[in-house]
Amino acid sequence: MYCIPRYPDEDPLAWLAPAESGGTRVPMPGIYLARTAELTPTVANLVLDTLGLPRGQGMWLRTGLVEAMSVPGDEESRRERTTRLVPRLNGEAISSHVLANTSEAPGDAVTALAWSLSERFLEMYGAAGLRALCQVRGETGSQEKAFAALSSSSHGFATGWEVGVLRPLEAARLGIQETVAKRQEAILSADKGAFLATVVNDDPVFRVEEEHWFDARLRSPLKSYELQANLLELAGDAALARLEVTSTSEAGQETHTAYNARFRRQDGRWILAGPEWHTQEGMHFTLHHTRDQTQTPRLLMDAAERAYAQVAADLRYEPATPTEIKLYDDHDLFGTSISLSLPEWARGWYEPGEAIKLSPRVQEDEYAGVIAHELAHRILFDRGIQLEWIHEGVATYESMRAAPERAWKLRACYVSAVREARRFNRLFDWAQMPTYDKVSAE
Ligand SMILES: [Zn+2]
Repeated sequence: MYCIPRYPDEDPLAWLAPAESGGTRVPMPGIYLARTAELTPTVANLVLDTLGLPRGQGMWLRTGLVEAMSVPGDEESRRERTTRLVPRLNGEAISSHVLANTSEAPGDAVTALAWSLSERFLEMYGAAGLRALCQVRGETGSQEKAFAALSSSSHGFATGWEVGVLRPLEAARLGIQETVAKRQEAILSADKGAFLATVVNDDPVFRVEEEHWFDARLRSPLKSYELQANLLELAGDAALARLEVTSTSEAGQETHTAYNARFRRQDGRWILAGPEWHTQEGMHFTLHHTRDQTQTPRLLMDAAERAYAQVAADLRYEPATPTEIKLYDDHDLFGTSISLSLPEWARGWYEPGEAIKLSPRVQEDEYAGVIAHELAHRILFDRGIQLEWIHEGVATYESMRAAPERAWKLRACYVSAVREARRFNRLFDWAQMPTYDKVSAE
């Protein structure tokens, strides 16, 4: 057992814990650290030294274990580490060179590779294997003999990593890039079938949203549309990628969004499954939100259930299925998930078959009012009511009843919305569009 005291800086460390020679004080066996030193690399190296790995050797383990140990054990921190390192695993650094400590490409690629090799080693051989590897290496000075003690070889281990980790990563990267290229092409050439072929077919709500998005895109001509994907994580048939979208409308309006998107392998192809959501099930709602938050989802869910009790009772109707709510943390992503030409003032959205979508611009004390409004739309559609003036009248009434203290603000917001909507009508010919969120002036 070692102790690792940490001192405020180098001076008290030198004074209180002098080196072996000279001092009368005998420090406990251990490593004495100033607080300015990084703890994790020291501990990782200490563990490996203790296990018998000769100093200065096994750099792939020393570097890799630091990455493996340098994050807290929670899911979010591990995700951050994985998504930082996986994009750097690209075959630029060669696994056998890194294992043999002869890599000529130091830096990010080597660090990522060392981490991946270490993770795979621990997966395959566990802590007992690590102990055996370090011990034999210390005793014999040979990595080959150390791997032989595990009935393996460094070449076999490197090849196993390439087959088991690198090739699947490269295949997923390629597959996702193919899908993204097809999607871009389908959007530019207005090919709805090809576009929908890039979307998973087991999420009916997302699929309807994508269909509506495509219909809206057909009504607003595009000058350019560009998609780029960067693989962040791979787990079997599920992948996470950073998706960047840049588009220019015919009128010259440019939008740029970037978000983490899930892809799934279906029938050998990588298909888009939508943004990376954190999901919570409630009584009458399924809530998707983009970040791992604790406070907001509970507030939102409580507000949604209050709104539900009121609207379902007023309209004497309970929807047959839970209502999905998607809370975005990026207003532009909220907008472009609906239409590339959604007016800037829109903050809440519902169309039949879709989730209720909320912009992050909706304040927490507005949740009940906005959800009551969108839920009223859902119930009226479910009951077969299409008339727009009934929709907006009832939805606005329900939102004001759900948040009477906000009614003055809502009224002000809707009045300016009417002006905006009229302006948009003239500019972009919205006559063809479903104008559910356009407030009637009557
Ligand atoms: Zn409305």
